[in-house]
Amino acid sequence: ETASRLFENGPELWLPRFPWPTAASHKHARGRLVVVSGDAWSTGAARLAARGGLRIGAGLVTICSPTESLRSNAAHLEAVMLRPFDTDLELEQAAAEVDAAVIGPAAGITEATLLNVLALTRTGAALVLDADAITVFRDDPEELFSVLDRDDVLTPHEGEFERLFPGLLKDSAERITAARRAAERASAVVLLKGADTVVAAPDGRVAVNSNGSPWLATAGSGDVLAGFIGGLLAQGMDSFEAACAAAWIHAEAAELHGPGLISEDLPGLAPTVLRRLY
Ligand code: AMP
Ligand code: MG
Repeated sequence: ETASRLFENGPELWLPRFPWPTAASHKHARGRLVVVSGDAWSTGAARLAARGGLRIGAGLVTICSPTESLRSNAAHLEAVMLRPFDTDLELEQAAAEVDAAVIGPAAGITEATLLNVLALTRTGAALVLDADAITVFRDDPEELFSVLDRDDVLTPHEGEFERLFPGLLKDSAERITAARRAAERASAVVLLKGADTVVAAPDGRVAVNSNGSPWLATAGSGDVLAGFIGGLLAQGMDSFEAACAAAWIHAEAAELHGPGLISEDLPGLAPTVLRRLY
């Protein structure tokens, strides 16, 4: 019934509204993004996302880090700011004045992560919920859906999708329908990862990514994608279009590199892709 709203994802879908900076831009106005770090043993994922957010144009990126992992984050960061937090309330305060936030990559499958997600939903930030931020709601997905905003983006791979939407993705031929129903049920944008990533919005828009790259089948690539989406959300892009643009740029960057790609390479490849679009 909404077939006319099914798109092939490519620049024609979102490039006219891409948030390029202007002469009036300054770093605060170019978007403030928070990325939530995991504990001391799991900090790389947040840094991958943070670098992705910066490279895609967010003006200010802050990693909110548990105190125990502050040092390892600080040892590897230059343009990214750091802010410690140890309770969900402290995270809520840290994210009170930002435009977007990413949580989930290596966040930990813990009650603390669940509380941290709920804390972020109480801020005005548009959210990217990935990985552990999805998995922690497996016992009660409604608890998450009831607090999500239409600006928020969920980025599950098929395993994470099954945890939030059990039984919805019966076979991989049904990915478009499944993503569309999931977006309606969650009242948020859903980006279902895979070789052919599908992005669905609660208003019925669906896009199938046209440029998937098998070089993305490597640890941490999803974390960079979450950062790309967060960086575009921070710059005020519509959530559906931000998810589409990020997925396309992510795959394009991977294709530019090809053999030997590791996730650390992806943020630094974004500028070449962006230069061609600019
Ligand atoms: P994650 O599962 O969170 O590590 O994210 C993996 C990322 O790589 C997602 O953006 C997937 O869409 C992408 N990806 C993984 N494997 C493939 C593949 N074989 N072809 C195209 N994209 C892939
Ligand atoms: Mg992942």
